[in-house]
Amino acid sequence: MYYIINGHDLTDETVSVLMIFYPNDKYIQTDTTDKGITLVSRFDGMYAEARLYMEGELKAKDRERAESDDRSEIKRVVGLSIARAVNSVMHIPLPWGILTGVRPAKLISEGLDRGESIDKVIEELHAKYLVSGEKLRLMAEVAKEERKIVESGKGKIGLYIGIPFCPTRCLYCSFTSYPLKQYAAKADNYIDCLIKEMEDARRYTDGRELESIYIGGGTPTSLNEAQLDRVLCAVEKNFGMPEEYTVEAGRPDTLTREKLRILKGHNVNRISINPQTLNDKTLELIGREHTAAMFINAFEMAREEGHDHINTDIILGLPGEGEKEVINTMEGLMRLSPESITVHTLAVKRASRLKETLDKYSMTDAAAMERHIAIAREYTREMGMRPYYMYRQKNMVGNFENVGYCKENCQCIYNVQIMEEKQSIIALGAGASTKAVNLDTGRIERIFNVKSVDDYITRIDEMLERKRALEKLL
Ligand code: SF4
Repeated sequence: MYYIINGHDLTDETVSVLMIFYPNDKYIQTDTTDKGITLVSRFDGMYAEARLYMEGELKAKDRERAESDDRSEIKRVVGLSIARAVNSVMHIPLPWGILTGVRPAKLISEGLDRGESIDKVIEELHAKYLVSGEKLRLMAEVAKEERKIVESGKGKIGLYIGIPFCPTRCLYCSFTSYPLKQYAAKADNYIDCLIKEMEDARRYTDGRELESIYIGGGTPTSLNEAQLDRVLCAVEKNFGMPEEYTVEAGRPDTLTREKLRILKGHNVNRISINPQTLNDKTLELIGREHTAAMFINAFEMAREEGHDHINTDIILGLPGEGEKEVINTMEGLMRLSPESITVHTLAVKRASRLKETLDKYSMTDAAAMERHIAIAREYTREMGMRPYYMYRQKNMVGNFENVGYCKENCQCIYNVQIMEEKQSIIALGAGASTKAVNLDTGRIERIFNVKSVDDYITRIDEMLERKRALEKLL
């Protein structure tokens, strides 16, 4: 679809709101209204106006008055005018209103930090951003849980270590992930560089309290036993044992009893084994190369090896899945009784194979997704879990959310700290992004490592050099 903006420069915000209505479309800036669907957004210093044209004919319009000349207020009225104009034609439910940000619960936390009451923050989000009562209740519940963790983690830091290899690439994947079959020869070189980065990172972690370590990717357990042991030995030697130590064991097809023992032997106290769905037909379709039975087997083996904090990730809205499949997945998880479940809704990412081949699949619509989310939530409730963290992504089917549910005291500290952005997180490995948070000013500085494994290996000294900025930032 096409768009024209006038009197403001809010291109990203304009496209973000259009994505709610026309997900997975191409958004092309233009200067005429006579082709296809065209949105015209204008701001005259006081009013934001949106007009929707189809083949040159005006179909809808809306006008909103800005209450101040703050940039955030201008963003709000521009978004609101677009949403109201488009929805007067589309008539779709807008559970999140015009909120398009990644961290909705943070908005409640920020309001509370400003000294406002929760009722006032909620009222404002409803009135000004059209967020539904149900989502506001979810935001408030999550914000309450997140704040407890943020409070107890004050002054501490987190560490992320990326292992960007996987057995194969999943259909929907947009992460830094390389198929291990092609990259096996480089894995040892990669680990050499990672250990070099760990040794160097001690200058930032020594003398500070490390609250959590998260080894993610990719799939860290794609490494063979000796490689995995080498990485974990280096972590232990350089950083000791934090309160929370997570390793993503994401793909069940990478797990062996020996790897589970290695993880346990290095005091990893939280692992994540992710089926995404327990329906074999879907697993094959999304290129996971494992079955539901293999996941169940890996999970039970992990329990036998003493892993008593296991998270499982699932995705709702995978191609071809309906309520029956969601129920089957949740029933299977209930039998295994993990400590936490992260319920994602499918996001069609630009860098994924799914995006390239989207027209081959029948996708879940917003109404069905709402029912699937309700089913998953009901099962988590039956399992004694509560929502404790949440994030949203662009291009999520039906514009919903990802929610982490957990049993009592089984929250993942790292996940919460990443969402609330109140703690510095040092990140190592290809594609890793370090975040230095200044709590006095609220300013966040990011330092990026290169994404490609080859670049990371050849430019490792440059990665160490880039982190020198932390000496002033931490
Ligand atoms: S397991 Fe995760 S990181 Fe690996 S290919 Fe699949 S989605 Fe990507």
